[in-house]
Amino acid sequence: MADRVDVVIIGSGVGGSAIAHCLASSGASVLVLERGERLVREDRNWDVEEVYAKACYKADEDWFDAQGQPFQPGQFYYVGGNTKVFGTTMLRFRAEDFGELEHEGGTSPAWPVSYDTLEPYYTEAERLFGVHGEAGRDPTEPPRSGGYPFGPVPHDPEIAGVADRLRELGLKPFPLPTSVQYHDGGKCIACDTCDGFPCKVDGKGDAEICLLDPALAAGNVTLCTGAMVNRLVTDETGKRIVAVEVTLNGRSESIEADLFVLSAGAINSAVLLLRSANDANPDGLANSSGMVGRFYMNHNCSAVMALKPFHKFTTRFQKSLSLNDFYFGDGEAYGYPLGNIQLLGKIKEPMLRGALGWMPGWGRQWLAGHSVDWYAMSEDLPDPESRVTVRDDGGICLSWRRTNTAAHARLVARTKKFLRAAGFPIVVSQTFSKETPSHQCGTVRFGDDPAKAPLDPLCKAYDHENLYVVDAGFFPSSAAVNPALTVAAQALRVGEHLRESELKAS
Ligand SMILES: Cc1cc2nc3c(=O)[nH]c(=O)nc-3n(C[C@H](O)[C@H](O)[C@H](O)COP(=O)(O)OP(=O)(O)OC[C@H]3O[C@@H](n4cnc5c(N)ncnc54)[C@H](O)[C@@H]3O)c2cc1C
Ligand code: SF4
Repeated sequence: MADRVDVVIIGSGVGGSAIAHCLASSGASVLVLERGERLVREDRNWDVEEVYAKACYKADEDWFDAQGQPFQPGQFYYVGGNTKVFGTTMLRFRAEDFGELEHEGGTSPAWPVSYDTLEPYYTEAERLFGVHGEAGRDPTEPPRSGGYPFGPVPHDPEIAGVADRLRELGLKPFPLPTSVQYHDGGKCIACDTCDGFPCKVDGKGDAEICLLDPALAAGNVTLCTGAMVNRLVTDETGKRIVAVEVTLNGRSESIEADLFVLSAGAINSAVLLLRSANDANPDGLANSSGMVGRFYMNHNCSAVMALKPFHKFTTRFQKSLSLNDFYFGDGEAYGYPLGNIQLLGKIKEPMLRGALGWMPGWGRQWLAGHSVDWYAMSEDLPDPESRVTVRDDGGICLSWRRTNTAAHARLVARTKKFLRAAGFPIVVSQTFSKETPSHQCGTVRFGDDPAKAPLDPLCKAYDHENLYVVDAGFFPSSAAVNPALTVAAQALRVGEHLRESELKAS
């Protein structure tokens, strides 16, 4: 491995891989440092006991909560980052999500960029990820410059029946945009082990397959796996990053570069900046505002199981339907945003053991066999005291202050109500815990004011002339849809800027 390159990218998730994709064939030498390895195709990819009950792919590390209690976070350190196990939902934020929005629990702040600015990059992100969907069906859909690259994944017959029933109730269910490669030439077989599982046949449109591998093929981008970045090093002024310190095969190495892109994920990027404190930057890098690690958000999410006691469901690919009827409220009944509802991957018995450990196994089997499984998601609002910090012993402390919980409870209650009306007499729910930071964001926010945000609107650190932070950390608000497509869109925008303005490549 070279000890000096033009550009170092830390992390190969959505943000890092999208930047690498933009810098392919730029003429610059680009090194991607990824702490994980490539996730191997193997039988246990689709083994629910291995993946859920034994958590075989989950990161083997402990974080600590605000009370100092350790927990094992739902983090996945592989080439491609968390997208190796993601649920493939690829929704754009609503145009209104980029402006200020009043919620029952407080104000969701405006972004420093508008939806119109990101629209072309959303389009490009959907193309690169091969997203399936159908424009014009989602009642809150933002303006689009074109259709989806592929038509919607067809519903399994039972889900088509549910969609019909919801329409009869006056709701507007729409095909959930997804990046499974279920089209001619694609490898997806629409199986029942997608959400939370790796794909055994490489059919998932993830950051490794859609962004990084094509970038590596260009020749100027190199990937180094098993490379744990511990620290960014500045020059004496503290203004310029000169190197990263990496642990590689148990050895410490230093790699120098002209430009650094930190894309370690919202939590780990904040941690790296804080751990890199030095005399010139005593509170951590990019942190003259004191905001690094603050405003951690993670969505309020609940699994909602709609049960038909006398019907055994045989659905395989369940994740094909969504509703935004209550995204901005519930008509005259409620004037504040509630959030998004979408189908989950099919729930199976081992997935219920954590929450329903008291129940006999046959009871959980029965539940999983008789349910259609939904995911209700409400916005988590930014709170400066909801934050990531580094403990004195170097450990990661995640003090998540959930916000806007009354709106989420109302969304879950509203979901249960319409599902009962749709013919599911029993509907139960379970809220996701802090151990599932799947939609982590907000910890290194971008903004127009350096006193309030570590990053400028192009994700460049205000405090350092050659550092960009490009992952879900830049979100000033979390909206109420899944984050990956928005991370990709902004990363493509930043990547274009780096290529044209920083590297002067055509
Ligand atoms: C189970 C699950 C399901 C999900 N489903 C969806 C979905 O359906 N739709 C959606 O939009 N989003 C989904 N998400 C969220 C989505 O995966 C993330 O929003 C997205 O991956 C964020 O991209 P990122 O670039 O911010 O970070 P990540 O994808 O987390 O990438 C960060 C990368 O940095 C590496 N890294 C971290 N620290 C270091 C270090 N110190 N040195 C070197 N490398 C480092 C990590 O190994 C990782 O590869 C899901 C997440 C999970 C866990
Ligand atoms: S649904 Fe398709 S993409 Fe998802 S795991 Fe199954 S085969 Fe892979």
